[in-house]
Amino acid sequence: MTATYSQPAVYFFGQGRADGTAAMKDVLGGKGAGLAEMTNLGIPVPPGFTISSTLCHTYLETKEFPPWLRVQVETSLQRLEAATGRHFGGAKDPLLVSVRSGAALSMPGMMDTILNLGLNDTTVKGLEAQSKNPHFAYDSYRRFVQMYGSVVFDLPKPPFERLLEERRQARGVPREIDLPAEDLRALVRDFKTHIQRERGRPFPEDPMEQLWGAIAAVFESWNTRRAIDYRRLHNIPDAMGTAVNVMTMVFGNLGEDSGTGVAFSRDPSTGAKVLYGEFLLNAQGEDVVSGTRDVEPIQRLKEIMPQVHQELERMARTLERHFRDVQDMEFTIERGKLYMLQCRRGQRTGHAAVRTAVEMVGEELISEEEAVARIPPNDLNQLLHPTIDSKAHLDLLTTGLPASPGAASGAVVFDADVAEQQGRKGEAVILVRRETSPEDFHGMVKARAILTARGGMTSHAAVVARGMGKPCVAGAQAIEVNESAKRFAVNGRQIKAGEWITVDGATGRVYAGQAALVSPVLSENFTRLMGWADRLRQLRVRVNADTPADAHRGRDFGAEGIGLCRTEHMFFEGDRLTAMREMILAQDADGRKRALAKLLPIQRSDFEAIFRAMEGYPVCIRLLDPPLHEFVPKEAKEIKELASALGQPVAKVKRVVDGLQEANPMLGLRGCRLGIVYPEITEMQARAIFEAACTVVARKGRVTPEVMVPLTATVVEFRRQAAVIRQVAEEVFRERQLTVPYLVGTMIELPRAALTADDLAREAQFFSFGTNDLTQTTWGLSRDDAGRFLPFYLDQGLLEDDPFQVLDQTGVGKLIQMGCELGRKARQDLKIGICGEHGGEPQAVMFCDRLGMNYVSCSPYRVPIARLAAAQAALAKRGTMDRTRATV
Ligand code: ADP
Ligand code: MG
Ligand code: MG
Repeated sequence: MTATYSQPAVYFFGQGRADGTAAMKDVLGGKGAGLAEMTNLGIPVPPGFTISSTLCHTYLETKEFPPWLRVQVETSLQRLEAATGRHFGGAKDPLLVSVRSGAALSMPGMMDTILNLGLNDTTVKGLEAQSKNPHFAYDSYRRFVQMYGSVVFDLPKPPFERLLEERRQARGVPREIDLPAEDLRALVRDFKTHIQRERGRPFPEDPMEQLWGAIAAVFESWNTRRAIDYRRLHNIPDAMGTAVNVMTMVFGNLGEDSGTGVAFSRDPSTGAKVLYGEFLLNAQGEDVVSGTRDVEPIQRLKEIMPQVHQELERMARTLERHFRDVQDMEFTIERGKLYMLQCRRGQRTGHAAVRTAVEMVGEELISEEEAVARIPPNDLNQLLHPTIDSKAHLDLLTTGLPASPGAASGAVVFDADVAEQQGRKGEAVILVRRETSPEDFHGMVKARAILTARGGMTSHAAVVARGMGKPCVAGAQAIEVNESAKRFAVNGRQIKAGEWITVDGATGRVYAGQAALVSPVLSENFTRLMGWADRLRQLRVRVNADTPADAHRGRDFGAEGIGLCRTEHMFFEGDRLTAMREMILAQDADGRKRALAKLLPIQRSDFEAIFRAMEGYPVCIRLLDPPLHEFVPKEAKEIKELASALGQPVAKVKRVVDGLQEANPMLGLRGCRLGIVYPEITEMQARAIFEAACTVVARKGRVTPEVMVPLTATVVEFRRQAAVIRQVAEEVFRERQLTVPYLVGTMIELPRAALTADDLAREAQFFSFGTNDLTQTTWGLSRDDAGRFLPFYLDQGLLEDDPFQVLDQTGVGKLIQMGCELGRKARQDLKIGICGEHGGEPQAVMFCDRLGMNYVSCSPYRVPIARLAAAQAALAKRGTMDRTRATV
């Protein structure tokens, strides 16, 4: 993008009028647009001008400023001189400016601002004479040379800081600001000498040269390594460029009646409608963030300068009303007069986002739709799980994958049995494993959190933890778990069993020691917001629930049914596992039937409780899915135990166990293939479902069972399984003398199923897209092994996202779309949903809504997120989403 002369390149703001507006962020950058808008609103902003971001690339390509730009900048400087009555480079009344960067999207910390530009050995005397304050004049001068040295001359900061520190110590004063003027003057000399020595060029005395050097440095900062990395990370296009703001200085370092600070129009962590922030007296901008001095809370300003505080409050309200959102403002007080130097949309926690949105509806600042549109659905995570107290002091050990949100502290244990024992006693434990397997389930249930060294976002640990709403950090590669020695090593440290750690599953961070946690409370505001979301959305939201407890939790979070009830999890606990193993080890159908008869009542009572919890909402039950080897022990000791429990020879048990091993179990004997090879399993499960349903109905309850066949590839498979299910249903209905309406449908989780969805839909009454397996099979990528190269792919930019975390709409999505279209063509009223972790991912929810699905289903704690995302999907269809986004 190369600018031409015909375009205005410089936009002035000052004296109550600005050339630009808030809508011109693309040209002016966020900072410039905000300054222009505030000026137009009559808010006191020091006058200045913004050089368009379109000039950024012109400069970067040619490393030159076009002559017409020089003309426009000089003209703007003259306007600035007229507006302030000062002269740039003037010996008596010098005009000083700041030079600040600012892109359309905020890139905090991308480059440093230069303050007090225009000072040299002559103008500093004018500043001294005018202010009658030599300390102020030389404090400003030394700041300028220091910033210019590091930003424009690109010199490291520490040598400057060391020189400053030496002076401070030699003088024996507590703070830099306490240095006398003569020391500050000496520092200016020291800094200049340092620059000359390091760069072989003198510090420029000519203010015009200073200005162009600073403008060039701001443009150059667009292409620093950290700026480029930041853009990659946040998907900001390189073509955007940064604008440059040149602004008249106002001085917070003129004494105790001056100062500088940052304020939010509402508390960004709680959302309370109070002015929030901090400030420093006798200081300039960078002192507040640099941590060199202790800042004061904004409440103190009320005591020290009540009018200024009141004025600040008034401006905050004006800006909020104008932008209709929380404002984050930077201000400076010069001898008791308040100036605004920046405003932007205030970042906030999930709690604050919900509270402010709902309260702003009450204040008639925004509509209910806007409130719903405004909250990033994933921010609700913070409301649904405990979080680490933001004031806590933390000792970071390492970072893994944020597998299941929430924070927890506990003593480290390495063994599921120990976790269970200690957990039962009410002790807080965190189960740390290289990776987990179904055999660890009982320990996971009792642990406060789970930490694994291997595995991805859909590893066993991650999936199980999310289902339970338990914090989990998975795939923390830096951790070396030594389960037998009961310790783990991480970055040269050793953590032994019994030592406390804290796990934050929302960020993937693992800390040593115990951190203070804040527990979630579902506020009235949350309930109101969700009520509005529910009125707006068309998509239904169901929960993935395998237990009555999950089902209840799902209902509490507003789920309208169960989209996926996995039956295998029911078999992992205690006696059930033994009966299951007996079934697997049986020689023939009769032996299997005997073992299955033991499982029937257990399964039936599970279904009964789940049906009751769902109060008539649909419950979609998936028939047994995983390969059978997942149910049998692998270690010799456990095999021996199992053999003696079943009264069978060890060698025989071992033979059967070995015989179950498959090279690619995920592509082996599993899903409906199990039910086809062993129809008695399907019979038992169908019987349990229909008997439970009849029992509930007989007691005046309501049920809507949906029986789901997993991993179907062909319509022939489906037909076989459906026949078994329907036959059992009829038998049970005859026995019980009543009928219950039910549906039989299939998962679509193999590409072949999606490709032949029309055939399937002629037989199946519903589809549920199992996006975990569909991703796995479409990509030919095993989710259990992806951890070995996926991080590399992500790192190298070969992949933008992990397809198991973020639904691949281009590839997998195309199969889903085809499945929906073909399916509906064959059966108009085909019920379609999605289950699997993607079901709660906001982008995927939007996608499903566009395809016209009936529902999405996700783990209990993601249900509110999906409800909100579904409402936003409905708003997006109406075109209201973008309009409601804040402008600055
Ligand atoms: P960042 O984008 O890193 O926040 P800014 O350009 O906002 O950098 O500048 C940082 C700080 O410098 C501001 O918050 C303000 O305190 C101070 N500052 C910038 N321009 C001026 C000015 N013209 N007068 C006084 N202080 C200024
Ligand atoms: Mg700023
Ligand atoms: Mg599957």
